[in-house]
Amino acid sequence: MSEIISVKAREILDSRGNPTVEVDVATTCGVFRALTPSGASAGQHEAIELRDGDAARYLGKGTLKAVDNVNQRIAPKLIGLDCRHQETLDNLLIKIDGTENKGKLGANALLPVSMAITKAGAAASGVPLYVYIGQLFGIIPYRLPVPMCNVINGGKHAGQENSIQEHMLMPTGAKNFTEAIRMVSESYHNLATLLKAKFGASGVLIGDEGGFAPSQIVDIDERLDLMLKAVENAGYSRKMKIALDPASSEFFNEGTYTIGPKSYSGGEMVDFYVKLCERYPIVSIEDGLAEDDWDSWVEITKKLGSKIQIVGDDLFVTNTKRIRKGIELQAANSVLIKLNQIGTVTETLNAIKMAQDEGWTAVVSHRSGETEDTFIADLVVGTSAGQIKTGAPARSDRNAKYNQLIRIEEELGEKAEYPGVDFREIL
Ligand code: PGA
Ligand code: ZN
Repeated sequence: MSEIISVKAREILDSRGNPTVEVDVATTCGVFRALTPSGASAGQHEAIELRDGDAARYLGKGTLKAVDNVNQRIAPKLIGLDCRHQETLDNLLIKIDGTENKGKLGANALLPVSMAITKAGAAASGVPLYVYIGQLFGIIPYRLPVPMCNVINGGKHAGQENSIQEHMLMPTGAKNFTEAIRMVSESYHNLATLLKAKFGASGVLIGDEGGFAPSQIVDIDERLDLMLKAVENAGYSRKMKIALDPASSEFFNEGTYTIGPKSYSGGEMVDFYVKLCERYPIVSIEDGLAEDDWDSWVEITKKLGSKIQIVGDDLFVTNTKRIRKGIELQAANSVLIKLNQIGTVTETLNAIKMAQDEGWTAVVSHRSGETEDTFIADLVVGTSAGQIKTGAPARSDRNAKYNQLIRIEEELGEKAEYPGVDFREIL
């Protein structure tokens, strides 16, 4: 039932139309498939995503080397092993690669194998994926996440320079997850109406994560005002909060942050966020500071950390070594979790555990280049993380995850819990 019979990778397309890797792991229970996502505003300290660099194929972005690494180097070592031994198998993957940053085989080779093994393990154990992940993590899952829905896309995801990347709605006042999704969907459509009235068809251009990408509005206040107006028109004013991911490493250069026409030092950037939080119902800021600007991270956590969530994405890259440093310095109070930043399921679970053991939150996240794989929906429930960031409530690469969570909520029935406003007090 649990013996691995075959492991096969192939090159397929992601949501941006770039190649990525999918892997089929076969056991006598069936074939279990996992696909790896890809970032655009990726952190410098992430595990390596192997690209062929052959300009004649996919503009150099081909993934045939990673595919070959799975089929030739990884597959022969996994045949005959028990798919339920996740940690042992992940350690074996790490050993076969043999580098600190997965640079030899590529995180895009290791991760889909690791995720497909988890799916095979769930089937061999006869339980849903989120329950199985709960077993690996050591909990009985019942908690749905509060979604962070990125309704206005900026920065790299919208072809804009020096711009805040993600403007997200958090339906903290919803009764349950299914209602939360309805609230953000209705707000999203109200936002479309406002943008169309203001800018015509160019106002409703869509960015990589399914949110609107109106290049006419550079000013953050204008973006947030429109979002709040849309929420009000949808009738959810008191039930919706705002989360931001400036992805500031993208607009940081030699000690200076540049947003639109304005420049800021690290300290000025922190003050910018402090004032923004006085004007808007912001409950979470991710990557407000750049990936190696630790001093400014410590400062923002001192000034805002008792009031709002300070999330490290490019800062921590789901890597326990960097998270430990962040804990020692008190440089944040939350970790963004992306499987492909680190490359295996076990290391991802360890990153979530380290954050939670410290009383920090963990926010499970998609990448801007996504696939139809819904693994992260089961991951967020299986680790009880309580928050998921997976784009606008539009485009099937994003909604696949929301839809899977709606199904999980239905399956859990009475046992399901939605944290709502208490999304930070779940630990
Ligand atoms: P990425 O962006 O997937 O392009 O890295 C997502 C994020 O910064 O959170
Ligand atoms: Zn981010």
